[in-house]
Amino acid sequence: MKQFQKTKSFAEVLDKEDPLRMFREEFCIPGSEIDKSKTYFLGNSLGLQPKVTPHYIQGVLDQWAANGVESFFMGETPWIHQHAFLVDQMSILAGAKSHEISIMNQLTVNIHLMLGSFYRPSGKRKKILIESKAFPSDYYALSSFISFLGEDPASILIQVESLDPQMKVQDEDVINAIKDNGEEIALVFIGGVNYYTGHVFDMKRIASAAKQVGALVGFDLAHAIGNVSLQLHNWDVDFACWCSYKYLNAGPGAVGGVYIHERYHTDDSIKRLAGWWGYKQEDRFQMHQSFEPESDATGWQLSTPSLILYACLEASLSIFKKAGWERVIEKQKIMSAWIRFLLADILVSEARSMFICITPEGAGCQLSFLFSHSGKEVFDELIEAGYMLDWREPNVIRLAPVPLYNTFTEIWDFCETLKIVLNRHYVKP
Ligand SMILES: *Cc1c(COP(=O)(O)O)cnc(C)c1O
Repeated sequence: MKQFQKTKSFAEVLDKEDPLRMFREEFCIPGSEIDKSKTYFLGNSLGLQPKVTPHYIQGVLDQWAANGVESFFMGETPWIHQHAFLVDQMSILAGAKSHEISIMNQLTVNIHLMLGSFYRPSGKRKKILIESKAFPSDYYALSSFISFLGEDPASILIQVESLDPQMKVQDEDVINAIKDNGEEIALVFIGGVNYYTGHVFDMKRIASAAKQVGALVGFDLAHAIGNVSLQLHNWDVDFACWCSYKYLNAGPGAVGGVYIHERYHTDDSIKRLAGWWGYKQEDRFQMHQSFEPESDATGWQLSTPSLILYACLEASLSIFKKAGWERVIEKQKIMSAWIRFLLADILVSEARSMFICITPEGAGCQLSFLFSHSGKEVFDELIEAGYMLDWREPNVIRLAPVPLYNTFTEIWDFCETLKIVLNRHYVKP
């Protein structure tokens, strides 16, 4: 990596030499049509729309108009084959074998389905270990699922608390909790990247620790997929699920994905909540009563997929394919190093007493700043200045410059603005 210099012209050099610079043109950037005054740092919340998305959607509509139900089997791209492209591309991002991926439903639905298969309490092994400060929907899914089984969530869930004042649950805390409760844990279920702190959990170590005590392990990858490098298969993760509207840019309510380790695909001891779309594809339309699932992750599908949602995801993944996942990751690392290099200045200035960055180095795109005072005022002024960021109670600003459409110059400008705004609110202790 090049030695960084603290100048705007150096930011411009980084942009000029960026092999992915042309991909920004492939996205609709909010505000840019009107006055070019917005900077979008919310790819962690809702990724931007690829300009080709309407074209892909139109393709589905055209095929439907031209061929009706026959579109499943005829036309330029028969719908029955759509899933294969998505799975191939997604398996690269997930670090999985293609047949371990299924594109289906949405995230919270998939958490329920995965619990149906992989929460297998038996004897004194009944507990589910999660991180405290897990995303609320995960918590609701787990609690309601446990209640549904007639158990009390409070006695089943072990929430790993953060021991440090920055509210960050550390890998070590999770590993220790796994060891301490080993024989009682049926399932470890952790958000691969914490949505609040941006911390990237050491999934490999957590998976291995879970295995050592005889527990299953699953991850919620909502903030990880398309953001950080994953090796689900090699890490021996049992299952994972994610949504596709954050770093994957597939639009609000996009179709989600699951990973299921191949060892379970034909394991009859694994129960599942089944539907006809999980039936062996070649015999699906014979409408048998007894259920014979497809012998890969698609055996967990339930319903006829939305081809329109598939089209949105295909549009997005075709950009990842062109860009190359390795190059996206490479740029992400340089971007993170760049913003931290610029922040270092602020973090040694007087204003440092106002906030800390609670996201550890080497994380993905997201940074979370925890304020001791005036956080909301600083946030409001950054918004006023055209930066699209988000605020999480009680006092955190989150931002996520992403490799496919953000620039090094945007990061430079942001850090300059941040300095000015902080100084305006700095009060000598
Ligand atoms: C975004 C997010 C969700 C949202 O789930 P949906 O079912 O897609 O609305 C759930 N869990 C985590 C960890 C998330 O980051």
